[in-house]
Amino acid sequence: MGDFWRGLLKGAVGPRDNDSRFLLDVHARDLPGEATMRRYRDDDEVDLVIVGAGAGGSVLAQRLARRGWTIVLLEAGPFWHPDEDWVSDEAGSHSLYWTQPRIIGGADPVELGKNNSGRGVGGSMVHYAGYTPRFHPSDFSTYRDDGVGADWPIGYEDLRPHYERVERELPVAGQDWPWGYPHRYPFSPHPVSGAAAKLREGALRCGIEMRVGPVGIVNGTFGNRPHCIYRGYCLQGCKVNAKASPFVTHLPDALAHGVEIRANSMALSVEIDATGRARGVVYADEASGPHRLQRGRSVAVAGYSIETPRLLLASTSRRHPHGLGNNTDQVGRYVMVQGATQAAGRWPEEMRMYKAPPPEISSEQFYETDPARGFARGFSIQTVSPLPIGWAEHVLADGHWGPALREYMRDYNHWATVGVLNELLPHPDNRVTLADEIDPYGQPVARMDYTLGENDKANMVHSTKVITEILDAGGAQDVLTIRRFAHLIGGARMGASPEHSVVDANQRVWGVPNVFVADGSVCPTQGAANPALTIMALASRLAQRMADGSALAGDPPHAPDTSTRSPTASGSPSRATSSPTSPGGSSLTAATS
Ligand SMILES: Cc1cc2nc3c(=O)[nH]c(=O)nc-3n(C[C@H](O)[C@H](O)[C@H](O)COP(=O)(O)OP(=O)(O)OC[C@H]3O[C@@H](n4cnc5c(N)ncnc54)[C@H](O)[C@@H]3O)c2cc1C
Ligand code: SF4
Repeated sequence: MGDFWRGLLKGAVGPRDNDSRFLLDVHARDLPGEATMRRYRDDDEVDLVIVGAGAGGSVLAQRLARRGWTIVLLEAGPFWHPDEDWVSDEAGSHSLYWTQPRIIGGADPVELGKNNSGRGVGGSMVHYAGYTPRFHPSDFSTYRDDGVGADWPIGYEDLRPHYERVERELPVAGQDWPWGYPHRYPFSPHPVSGAAAKLREGALRCGIEMRVGPVGIVNGTFGNRPHCIYRGYCLQGCKVNAKASPFVTHLPDALAHGVEIRANSMALSVEIDATGRARGVVYADEASGPHRLQRGRSVAVAGYSIETPRLLLASTSRRHPHGLGNNTDQVGRYVMVQGATQAAGRWPEEMRMYKAPPPEISSEQFYETDPARGFARGFSIQTVSPLPIGWAEHVLADGHWGPALREYMRDYNHWATVGVLNELLPHPDNRVTLADEIDPYGQPVARMDYTLGENDKANMVHSTKVITEILDAGGAQDVLTIRRFAHLIGGARMGASPEHSVVDANQRVWGVPNVFVADGSVCPTQGAANPALTIMALASRLAQRMADGSALAGDPPHAPDTSTRSPTASGSPSRATSSPTSPGGSSLTAATS
């Protein structure tokens, strides 16, 4: 079946068990159900308290709310009202980013802020670019197969059904995908802009195949979500509702099934009782407000790769004097970023790279280890489209300022940009710790140390050469390069033993029966793929295992508290009361490079 018919048919049908696309209002961008959502008291013992309404936390909430769980989602940032809060302007979008103080160190400190984490209902995906590739099967066993990185305690097949389900929910648009585990996408590929077409020409001349997508951007209508209008403001929050983020893909359905999103609520610690079980989350609803405890039968932390380890480290108790799950000094270790060098080329004709979503075409031809290259693992190639402030940073990074910077700025319309995503390997000393500095909540500020390894550097050098060759082959008259990093992963990784990891194959914190981690910090490796789809797929799998009881093995069942049941929840409460089954996942040994 051709792309046209496939897109028409599958786009029209859409996923089951998630009505978000129909709940959105075609005339307003607010999250439907905010005014009428179920509210709980702090002393209501809900089934689950989730910290963080981003990619992982939102999917977990939506899935379990559908199974009758009572849930409070604590979110540090605000409840967005996009028609008023989001602007089609780079400088005006700073409120979307996590810009609270953090300390960076190591030999290659990573700049933190707008490029790696978000804050507010919907999390970082509110202003992510929109690329939604899957990880490759090889990403789950890099140590076994390539002698570097780490092996996951689960395999690709554990996530595959969840990848497929989330791809239908976003929905993902793209050409048939030949790399990794070959697969198709529910929506057909978007048209390609002039800038991306020029870059594809250059790639083809170098023998590199680039395909359209995969992007979480609607190509057609999807329920009440309209077609993308190709205005290029995806990183500023899509005011059209064409770009997928939990704000439009999972939270509307979560609210309709009784979840409370408590915005402007910063979680400060997970409270552990005398028996070693979590009894809730301490949070502050204003920077200087009194600390409160939201009670819950279980807790899931989903604050992303810096805030999750920070919260676990800050959750000290008699049983966990060094932080929750940190008895073997694993919390905060193995934080990763991806190398994200970008090279821009200049052509005599106008490229106008802003006239499209930043994510358009990509290649995973160099994703896997090739011994001939002299380093392990690989990289992807993706087109990107910086707006003028991003373009100024790019020009500055290449060493131009003053009159030259002004001239390059005036020339913006003639440039097209291509970038890489390098798989950088996990290392125990690349880690998040608590600094001595205190934030306005009285919490220790997070410190992140990062140092590149030799394999990482070789990967980055090689990939920069490849994208420069693409520009040269495409006839670029001038090339400017910026070395940068993107994305965060790790810091509370999953593994087969508590000596080498923070959570088990069910994302449950070792040694604590009812605390889970449901975000990007659980990933032991990151591949050369953007992480959001994998984070959502992991949360989807976790929800399934929490709902059927297998993730709660060993946790004594509790009688459901019907007084806190949502009146809108569908079905009867299904919290684990069945006999526990053993956790799933493969039995590969966790290992480090
Ligand atoms: C500019 C940019 C571009 C990106 N582009 C892409 C892309 O194209 N493709 C892709 O796959 N990925 C991309 N990403 C990365 C992607 O957005 C993240 O990997 C993903 O959203 C992480 O999901 P998460 O659930 O782990 O965390 P998040 O989605 O960041 O959610 C965490 C939430 O927790 C909240 N929180 C944190 N700590 C606390 C606390 N103590 N109390 C209460 N709330 C708390 C935060 O405010 C946040 O809302 C991009 C990210 C950025 C910033
Ligand atoms: S380019 Fe498309 S997806 Fe991006 S912000 Fe505009 S309408 Fe939304």
